[in-house]
Amino acid sequence: MYRTNTCGELNISNVGQQVTLCGWLQRSRDLGGMTFIDLRDRYGITQLAFNMETDATLCEQARRLGREYVLQVTGTVIERSSKNAKIPTGEIEIQVSKLTVLNESKVPPFTIEDQSDGGDDLRMKYRYLDIRRNPVKNNLILRHQMAMLVRNYLSSQNFLEIETPMLIKSTPEGARDFVVPSRMNPGEFYALPQSPQQYKQLLMVAGMDRYFQIVRCFRDEDLRADRQPEFTQIDCEMSFVEQEDVLQMFEGLAKHLFKEMKGLEFGKFERISWHDAMRLYGSDKPDKRFGMEFVEVNDVVKGHGFGLFDNAPLVVGICAAGCAEYTRKQLDELTEFVKRPQVGAGGMVYVKYNADGTFKSSVDKFYGQDDLKALADKFGARPGDLMLLLCGEPMKTRVQLCALRLEMGSRLGLRDPQKYAPLWVVDFPLLEWDDETQRFYAMHHPFTAPKPEDEPLLDDPNRWGDIRANAYDIVINGVEVGGGSIRIHDRQLQNKMFHTLGFTDESAYAQFGFLMDAFTYGAPPHAGLAFGFDRLCSIFGGVDSIRDFIAFPKNNSGRDVMSGSPSPIAKEQLEELQIAIKS
Ligand code: ASP
Repeated sequence: MYRTNTCGELNISNVGQQVTLCGWLQRSRDLGGMTFIDLRDRYGITQLAFNMETDATLCEQARRLGREYVLQVTGTVIERSSKNAKIPTGEIEIQVSKLTVLNESKVPPFTIEDQSDGGDDLRMKYRYLDIRRNPVKNNLILRHQMAMLVRNYLSSQNFLEIETPMLIKSTPEGARDFVVPSRMNPGEFYALPQSPQQYKQLLMVAGMDRYFQIVRCFRDEDLRADRQPEFTQIDCEMSFVEQEDVLQMFEGLAKHLFKEMKGLEFGKFERISWHDAMRLYGSDKPDKRFGMEFVEVNDVVKGHGFGLFDNAPLVVGICAAGCAEYTRKQLDELTEFVKRPQVGAGGMVYVKYNADGTFKSSVDKFYGQDDLKALADKFGARPGDLMLLLCGEPMKTRVQLCALRLEMGSRLGLRDPQKYAPLWVVDFPLLEWDDETQRFYAMHHPFTAPKPEDEPLLDDPNRWGDIRANAYDIVINGVEVGGGSIRIHDRQLQNKMFHTLGFTDESAYAQFGFLMDAFTYGAPPHAGLAFGFDRLCSIFGGVDSIRDFIAFPKNNSGRDVMSGSPSPIAKEQLEELQIAIKS
């Protein structure tokens, strides 16, 4: 038997027991007469004591051990003289009688401490050492706990976890596929699933009624910060449900996670239409940990001779409570912020509502004190507040103002990662126009059903942009953690949708024929949703980066720096696959 106990479980009640522990040498302290070693495993740290007087040979041996050596020790649990209240094993130590080195270790390239001296790249290259550190280890434990809660909850609601294939048919609609060449079918390729969307719908046709899967998905997209080419979804689908059933089911799941992981209870999640979310927050995933809703002020600012406002289709702003004292420098910083290419505004107008009731603005030339008072009233501003305004083309301006709102939220400390503001965004547009390719795309995916009352608009191409979908996202703290829709289960409507998206009968059939065929054999009404599991974990962990919650993530260029993938493959492999590489 390698061990009787772990390094995290012995305490004062075990004093006197003979135990055997295994673990890694975290740290050793040589005090001359005594040597102490912190022995670490996944469960914790236990102090080992070696006494020069009682066993000089053993003590000498202990002194020679290096960091991260793998040890097995046998000894007696004794009460410590200087206790450490910070760790559960802090009242005891092991008086070691036998020490075995199970393996040596090179000196690790960075310190295995909560605060490591290793930079990102180094820690990724030696991820197995990084995982020995508490913060990373604890994230993986959190992920496991979340996965268990999800499985148990959904299973208790009659969902079955069913695996779907990883080698599937490539469908260009959506993001770019990762493809896998088929040796047995030269010149032909599988794709790795971007999501099990079509399979889960087939499982509904197959009568499985409630399906879920914690499943890996792959998207070959240009990597934006903190996107992973492979990521995990909690993928779900249900039959014989309306939108309300779906929202309630998965709101239930989210509440269950909040309760079990955080001890937090929530009432009914707020719901906001996509349209309102854009109008009030300039985003389809508003961060509702704080207010600062947009106020549109065209009616009060136009006609005062300020050309920029007079000519803009939309003038819109936010009111930052208590910020009227902002200095020139702070205001300049904000102007610089909105003018950065990532935000793209031309400039920013500020109006200070001073504590004494007077106003000071960057447009005093055009607006008198009474005009600014009218503006302040429109905002519901109070003395001491600061109003920030942008203007321009409506959608662009709203998105720019969204960036400014979030920036102000951060500056004012209103985006506490330990505070949670979940909500549903509903009634997404069905279709999204793409200027580049001059066609409409499905905003969610081509199987998403329009709202029944908007269905007739499918017959009028001029109104396609107005059609609303039975689609919904769940958003927490400004992050879309999940999304889904009611699916089209009627073949006629699905055909119409394909036509709207520019498919011919043939091209639609070539891509989605198997699903369309299946729908002729009694497809039930169905709907579903998928959560981004990595993202959900990072939110529950109160950390921005999803990488911290993936055991072996890729870096920003999609590389696994530890194993060195992707990498070239041997000429023979290429030949076998009948793939020619241009040199
Ligand atoms: N398959 C969708 C996605 O990956 C989610 C869904 O509609 O269920 O976003």
